[in-house]
Amino acid sequence: MEGTQSHQERGGQAGGPAFQGAARGSASPLVGHAPGRRLRRSRGAAQSEGGRQGGQDRRRIEPEQPRVPHQLGRVHGGGDGARRQPSQEPELDPLHGFPRDRPERSAILGAAASAVNAHARGVRGRRRRRVGRGTLLPSSVCRSLRSARRAGVPPPRRRARGLLSVRQGESDRRWGSAPSAALQSAVVFTTDEASARPRAGRGTRGENARRALAVGLGAAVALAAGGCGEAVEPRVNVLLVTLDTARADRLGCYGNERIDTPNLDALAREGVRFEQAFTPVPSTLPSHCSIMTGASPARHGVHDNGIYRLDGSFTTLAERLGEQDYRTAAFVAAFVLDRQFGLDQGFATYDDAMSAPLIARDIAALREADALTDEQKKWFAQQASPYQRRAEAVVDGALAWLAADDDEPFFLWVHAFDAHASYQAPGSFETLYDPDYAGSLDGELGSFYRAAGEHGWLPGGVPEREKAHMIARYDGELAYLDGELGRLFAALRADGRWDETLVIVVGDHGEGFGEHGQLWEHNGEIFDEVMRVPLITKRPGGRSAGSVVESLVRTIDLAPTVLEAVDASGWAELEGASLFDGDTLAPGAPRRILLQALRERQAWPSPHSWLGLRTAGEKLVLLCDESGAVTQTALFDLTADPSERRPAVAPADAARAAEWTAEAVALYAERMAAAGGRGWRGMDALTSDALLDLGYTGGAGEE
Ligand SMILES: [Zn+2]
Repeated sequence: MEGTQSHQERGGQAGGPAFQGAARGSASPLVGHAPGRRLRRSRGAAQSEGGRQGGQDRRRIEPEQPRVPHQLGRVHGGGDGARRQPSQEPELDPLHGFPRDRPERSAILGAAASAVNAHARGVRGRRRRRVGRGTLLPSSVCRSLRSARRAGVPPPRRRARGLLSVRQGESDRRWGSAPSAALQSAVVFTTDEASARPRAGRGTRGENARRALAVGLGAAVALAAGGCGEAVEPRVNVLLVTLDTARADRLGCYGNERIDTPNLDALAREGVRFEQAFTPVPSTLPSHCSIMTGASPARHGVHDNGIYRLDGSFTTLAERLGEQDYRTAAFVAAFVLDRQFGLDQGFATYDDAMSAPLIARDIAALREADALTDEQKKWFAQQASPYQRRAEAVVDGALAWLAADDDEPFFLWVHAFDAHASYQAPGSFETLYDPDYAGSLDGELGSFYRAAGEHGWLPGGVPEREKAHMIARYDGELAYLDGELGRLFAALRADGRWDETLVIVVGDHGEGFGEHGQLWEHNGEIFDEVMRVPLITKRPGGRSAGSVVESLVRTIDLAPTVLEAVDASGWAELEGASLFDGDTLAPGAPRRILLQALRERQAWPSPHSWLGLRTAGEKLVLLCDESGAVTQTALFDLTADPSERRPAVAPADAARAAEWTAEAVALYAERMAAAGGRGWRGMDALTSDALLDLGYTGGAGEE
């Protein structure tokens, strides 16, 4: 069953399983990635959307900005626009009475919201007591808010009206109407810039501030109307950490006995570890789009890096949490997640500041330049290349952001790119797990391919010693990354927010170590080494601590999991399903996951693409030609053959494989139809250069 011709055309591959010719065409080995194929690329795709988009969508600025008495200090929801107002207004006591006929009254009410928040901080200590969706306040404040209502507040904007109705219902349902004797309390719904922005980075500062103020105003009105009551539970913070290119089996808590990942291991002991978690696609941008939308790539329409963009018509997790008044921020570590690719949607802060294109050259020299300040030198040192940065940089950014406000509930996404090739961890981590190596590999893919060419290594024939060295370097990256995540976790523990934070650590895809032809790459097949990802969650309040879930789960389940955890609406309609139902873990299993790689148009031409279906015990793998037609089919019994090397060959298996194939193709077509062609963006030269620098090559193509 050897497809010799195909084998030679595609660069050869050793050790891979054979395919059945179930659909059409004869069986052939899986396709390998020979060294010479990496550097081909095509720039023929359309040029589009070159620069950054954040903040470019200038909207009309209203001439009159709300004015706020300066002595009220920071205005929640007022943002910078409120803070920079000079003190031109007469001294007012916003807690007691509001002038009825003043045009500034809406601004004053916005200030009132700030004042009561500040007051609450003073009353309750350093951190206000957050309860449910609001804040406990003394009865005097409650009276003030009622005064605000009587003052005849203008109708809130549309979004604020939404807040009014939703929160009013929440208030009634959750807290009732009977205030405690000791502390009659109102529930104040605070807001911030994030919640006031329908799209992060799309408005001017002034407009954002004005919009935020309007929302804060609506919230204050909601409170005034909402009556008083005692609240019971804190809001849930959400920390999402995505580990790029992290194989589950390389972490300590997943069984790698060599590596030291104490922080992730501790998180697993404190939380829930999912043994069988899968991404629908082994590629960074599509995978993250699935995490953020709860949809598979065929549905959200992002199939590859660089040439697709998450369409603005999709509602992201950040947008949904922003609507719930969450502070939102993202710190990403590689250009492939630059805001121009659409994942910034909903984030009030989207930190994707790599060193390119400002100083794409001579970065090494700049690191050492005497003219730089220590801070600048540190920044440069954190840049692993012009297009990526180390975990230290994103964690530093996240810590600063967290420290800026410890009152409001937050949604924080930290993306770490360290485990992605090349494997050159900083400091002692680089040689930690293979200190005695004396060969020529330095972790750069270039050194590997030079050696491969020199010695004639084929993907299946790399000497074990050299392969072990690369894996040791990969482990070093993960160990380094674990230490950086430890800083992030420790900060939340230290400031008291850890317990009320839902923590999710998940890989976006794995990495090929030669199992099925891919070496130090991931986007060119759909076997488990690239599709299975680590997934560890820590639930608020220590719920389900120490659990291990064996059921099959998907990364598209994360968005609904988060939305349900924060009691937000909209999760039930997503393609994924929540991983928790009370104390039940992974309800709804068994799941069947549609897998894909290199589908549709690709950043670099590739002679084939992949489609598959995976259940807990079986997996269908389809190889498709450029037109998308299935050319080869393989069905694996994962119980008997977990490494996916021996496709089932019995007649009954063939019949089932054909049935599954039809199902997979139909499912894919259905989701593509739902996507409606959204997502295509096209390649530009800068993007192409950046992706090549990062090691992204989708295949070779013949020229
Ligand atoms: Zn990735």
